[in-house]
Amino acid sequence: MKSHVMPANTQVRLSSRPVGMPSVENFVLADAPIPSLSAGAVLVETLYLSLDPYMRGRMSEAKNYAASIDIGDVVVGSAVGCVIDSEDPSFKPGEIVESPSGWQSYAVVQGASLRRIDPNLAPISTSLGVLGMPGLTAYFSTLSVGRPMPGDTVVVSGAGGAVGQLAGQFAKLAGCRVVGVAGSDRKAAYCRDQLGFDAVVNYKTASNLKEAIAQACPRGVDVYLDGVGGSISAAVNENLALHARVVIFGQISQSNLSSPEVGPVSMRYMLTSRARVEGFIVSDWQSRNHEALTRISSWLRAGSVKYSEHIVEGLENAPAAFIGMLSGDNLGKTLVKVR
Ligand code: NDP
Repeated sequence: MKSHVMPANTQVRLSSRPVGMPSVENFVLADAPIPSLSAGAVLVETLYLSLDPYMRGRMSEAKNYAASIDIGDVVVGSAVGCVIDSEDPSFKPGEIVESPSGWQSYAVVQGASLRRIDPNLAPISTSLGVLGMPGLTAYFSTLSVGRPMPGDTVVVSGAGGAVGQLAGQFAKLAGCRVVGVAGSDRKAAYCRDQLGFDAVVNYKTASNLKEAIAQACPRGVDVYLDGVGGSISAAVNENLALHARVVIFGQISQSNLSSPEVGPVSMRYMLTSRARVEGFIVSDWQSRNHEALTRISSWLRAGSVKYSEHIVEGLENAPAAFIGMLSGDNLGKTLVKVR
């Protein structure tokens, strides 16, 4: 490291594995020295931290598609930050980057793992939301896997969240009738009044979810974009139209259960509707990220796509904000403003 006087690096580490819903006691704040840079490494100061549901899976020992973190590790996560020092000739101090920094105020990362962000194109926080992983997830799962046709009825679960808000808007741009499922009247009103969804069902207050979906989708569900799973999906699946497409990109309703929910088994509806069901992981599509980000950017500039952010101040508040996001506090993308 060159001649900077660096403050201590504040980190949020996992102190114990959550059982069920995480609690703030599962995390601990600690200070650590900043390591010196080897060839190819870059020192990044965290400005915004992204909080994402997948992090819950990394905190448990259960086998997942991505490795668990160990007790004592800094919690993993993407951030947008500023380059402070660099031993990678392609990055200079002062540049803004998306970085796999984790929950800490400074991170030393390999330059090859960074994505350069142009702060003149959009607010830098959007590189973690509408112009980042959630935007890409919504884009590819909706348009490339769900393949909605004009006039189709598209149901989006987790509609008020980072991915769901965008997936619904992309389906509207494809000429569809869009019905959201969300957990509060505030989220429902936002999706309807601000984002142009045709209807939103509040799954927490609907007395009969299957009937509420049927009422909102009188011709059945042609495309189901599923970020939650469990009993919500069971109710949607009972309303599938002939040749429906079901895109499963998340199962958040299951992530804090000590044992998986053995809900109503709705495979029969896949059979009778001759549905196509496809799982989705955003990293499989990264060769097309440029195309997607170019298109989403042009929709943003034209005002045909909107986004909202739920921003919590202070790295020390990341655990509570993460728990809040899992509990449904957020409208749109959850971020921690670190500096
Ligand atoms: P969100 O911004 O949607 O935040 C999570 C939301 O999940 C909460 O606000 C809450 O909203 C909802 N939720 C929590 N518990 C339940 C429950 N038991 N039943 C129903 N809804 C619940 O998160 P993201 O947009 O970042 O992610 C949405 C989904 O997409 C997640 O499952 C995530 O893992 C997945 N994902 C998958 C990717 C992939 O590549 N496959 C990439 C990115 C995200 P509410 O108030 O409505 O309950």
